[in-house]
Amino acid sequence: GLCQQAAFLISAAKVDQCPPDEGLEVAFAGRSNAGKSSALNTLTHASLARTSKTPGRTQLLNFFALDGQRRLVDLPGYGYAKVPIPLKLHWQKHLEAYLGSRNSLAGLILLMDIRHPLTEFDRLMLDWSQASGMPLHILLTKADKLAFGAAKNALLKVQKDVRDGWGEEVSVQLFSAPKRQGIDEALAVLANWLEL
Ligand code: GDP
Repeated sequence: GLCQQAAFLISAAKVDQCPPDEGLEVAFAGRSNAGKSSALNTLTHASLARTSKTPGRTQLLNFFALDGQRRLVDLPGYGYAKVPIPLKLHWQKHLEAYLGSRNSLAGLILLMDIRHPLTEFDRLMLDWSQASGMPLHILLTKADKLAFGAAKNALLKVQKDVRDGWGEEVSVQLFSAPKRQGIDEALAVLANWLEL
């Protein structure tokens, strides 16, 4: 599929460095260490997203081209404990500027460690998607860290909490990069949003 042909396009430190706002793109967001790089690499069969934890690097929005009109976007990992406050505010400012201005943004994939779902950052992203009507799909990552039954229970709990807090629109699934679990389900969401 097209997602397997993703190729690095550009890193943008600010919104005015983003590629032209045309076609369709899907953005991946998540708290640092949620498993965003691993998920992107698993879904695209490539080493697109370096698992760099260098603060200066992670503030960038990284764009990957699927074709001339479709892109995946790796949003800055948010909430890394060792990053000083001014850099956190810098991230937040650019993230908000991107989210608030990008016409080609078709949907958001929000990644949460299945053992620590619905952090403050996750709730902010859910609030924002609800307020702006932006489709949002949640990957509960590292599902392999829990036994089958516990993972299933965690999924049901997050589905209920999300439905109660943000309505029926948000979808949730289990995901594991090393077990290659949940790939087809996630790719189907991308294909739908990207009109593939
Ligand atoms: P990011 O900061 O959100 O990009 O997170 P990374 O993808 O760099 O992952 C953070 C850590 O979690 C790394 O040590 C990964 O190997 C590990 N990790 C990521 N996804 C999974 C997963 O699905 N299962 C397990 N067991 N570990 C994972």
